Amino acid sequence: FVKEKGKNGYKLFQSDMKETFYRKMMIEKGLRKAIDAEEFTLVYQPQLDLKNNVVIGAEALLRWNSEEFGMVPPSEFIPVAEEVGLINQIGEWVLLTACKQCKEWNIEGRDPIKIAVNISMKQFLEGDFVYKVSRILDETQLNPTYLELEITEKIAMTNHEKVIEIIESLKSLGVRIAIDDFGTGYSSLNYLGKIPIDVLKIDRSLVKNISLNNKNATIVQSIISVTKKLQIDVIAVGIETKEELQYLKNMDCYTGQGYFISKPKEHPFS
Ligand code: C2E
Ligand code: MG
Ligand code: MG
Repeated sequence: FVKEKGKNGYKLFQSDMKETFYRKMMIEKGLRKAIDAEEFTLVYQPQLDLKNNVVIGAEALLRWNSEEFGMVPPSEFIPVAEEVGLINQIGEWVLLTACKQCKEWNIEGRDPIKIAVNISMKQFLEGDFVYKVSRILDETQLNPTYLELEITEKIAMTNHEKVIEIIESLKSLGVRIAIDDFGTGYSSLNYLGKIPIDVLKIDRSLVKNISLNNKNATIVQSIISVTKKLQIDVIAVGIETKEELQYLKNMDCYTGQGYFISKPKEHPFS
């Protein structure tokens, strides 16, 4: 009986693998034509000044409406794009589209907002990334101080020297650097003193139920006070409830992002 069960289990595993492999292959194929087929769009999630209740920025999030698969979440297609070497091209499209959009919003006459763009590790470490950013800023005429590049903790922790060099070049262009997903496993306060970042995004795993979770509240409170002393801005993400928002506000966390404030949408002011 045991043997038979094992056998079935193995078969199941094998066909699972086959299916996963096949889907990945099809996703790769789809991604190769997605830009030309205009299947990508960006949505924008507002970032709120919690004290004054005004939108001060937006994070651009990529959406793929594939002809074959319908909507595919970035958590599925971004890793494939990275693996098969398509992320640079896709990332460039994202950067250009986001900068163009932000420039447009900022000439509409209200207070300017910044645009935050996610950058994958491969894209960031690509030889001509800094050049591409400067070319896109030139092309779109977006004031560089309104562009914020989000890199993950993981990038910040690896290839230290090279990463610092790239960040410094980017900062000399005038763009801002944010650390995304802070608190998801690689966190170390150590590198905050070494890497010249402007913004730290506190991950939603620390924000969740913050008003009920003493330990997380303590961690977040210390992140807020350390970053304040280092003159790094802080933004809490994944705010899903009124209680979380109120609690963060009381902790002097002045910027926030999350479903409770707004889901990602076409226009961050609407
Ligand atoms: P991220 O950069 O951490 O983006 C935040 C994700 O959390 C987004 O998911 C957003 O829709 C979601 N989110 C926002 N508020 C809440 C909330 O209150 N609760 C919960 N549960 N979720 C919330 P999305 O759009 O599916 O993106 C997932 C990830 O895919 C992003 O995580 C980012 O790492 C990556 N990604 C998205 N767009 C791009 C892109 O243009 N380039 C690159 N390289 N990566 C991207
Ligand atoms: Mg992000
Ligand atoms: Mg995240």
